[in-house]
Amino acid sequence: MIFDALTTFGHEQVVYCHNKDAGLKAIIAIHNTVLGPALGGLRMWPYKTEQDALNDVLRLSRGMTYKAAVSGLNLGGGKGVIIGDPNTDKSEALFRAFGRFVNSLNGRYITAEDVGIDVNDMEWVLKETEYVTGVHQVHGGSGDPSPFTAYGAVQGLMAALQARFGNEEVGKYSYAVQGIGHVGMEFVKLLREQGAKVFVTDINADSVQRAVDDHGCEAVALDDIYDVAADVYSPCALGGTVNHATIPRFKFKLICGAANNQLATEDCGDEVERRGILYAPDYAVNAGGLMNVSLEIDGYNIERARRMMRTIYQNLGKIFAIAKRDGIPTYRAADRLAEERIATIGKIRLPHMGQSGTRFLGRMRGL
Ligand code: NAD
Repeated sequence: MIFDALTTFGHEQVVYCHNKDAGLKAIIAIHNTVLGPALGGLRMWPYKTEQDALNDVLRLSRGMTYKAAVSGLNLGGGKGVIIGDPNTDKSEALFRAFGRFVNSLNGRYITAEDVGIDVNDMEWVLKETEYVTGVHQVHGGSGDPSPFTAYGAVQGLMAALQARFGNEEVGKYSYAVQGIGHVGMEFVKLLREQGAKVFVTDINADSVQRAVDDHGCEAVALDDIYDVAADVYSPCALGGTVNHATIPRFKFKLICGAANNQLATEDCGDEVERRGILYAPDYAVNAGGLMNVSLEIDGYNIERARRMMRTIYQNLGKIFAIAKRDGIPTYRAADRLAEERIATIGKIRLPHMGQSGTRFLGRMRGL
């Protein structure tokens, strides 16, 4: 059963982690390490069944492989899930037990924060393993990735504007932004700084008021966001909002935002394409968060982070070029770029480069 799933998605390894005393039931999935160690967040969720947890960790870890590959990072894709309620089941023992399992993988998997996990939980994990990112700045971490995600999304937006309109003047266009949380608020701020017209909506009325008062955005009702006569739709809340019910309402010419999994189903990507709406693939646009934590591996530096975010512009350009070259929708082109990079980089790593290190030299001397 499990091998069927691994074969379908192409995973390398799945580790079931159990510690009775700590109440730990976790799964770590390593999808692909051709480009580097598998980096991906740890999610804590009260999954109804073990199968639900397995499905989630397999799907998410595969997604990380594609995000890292498309973003030019030397990282593979992995993910961890803890089965439990983040409101009631957290303890020091739980996270330290999880940390020991991460450590046992010897760097094949590097963990980070995801849904249900906060920076304090990661500090427990850090007590047991160094293979952790997204810890507090005092431990050499990179802090909240959201401003970087927003900045990176604007780089992706510029590339998308260039592809769709032939110029990248952010301020010339109008935007319908759904969700003004950590990423969305920073995103609208950057848009407004360039003089763009920005419509916003959020289930949180206070956030909407802040966007209006502090950044001069225009508020619209929750469901009306799909009908706004703006050039660009920027989903920055939930996934699945580009679906067969919403697409017919779109007057947008471009979809570019930070939310994960924006297309409800793949055929929605085909449908927007048919309607002449350019879709900027979400996992390439919102890779700033991953890029930011990836820099913790060999020493975080904010200048390197900003430089790296700017490569999102080029990455989107490559995706649009592949879409044109192969006559395929952009969501498929993003996958193709990732797969091509894994295949080509995987091949250059194939020849054996000789062995270094004292252990090997010692053996040579002993011969
Ligand atoms: P967040 O929770 O801070 O913000 C989400 C906002 O969306 C909240 O203000 C929430 O009230 C609002 N919202 C929820 N449902 C809504 C609805 N139906 N209509 C309108 N608004 C709604 O989360 P975030 O960190 O800003 O992340 C936003 C999105 O970007 C998520 O999809 C996340 O997976 C993705 N993302 C975030 C990062 C990051 O660095 N934080 C990185 C990559 C991707």
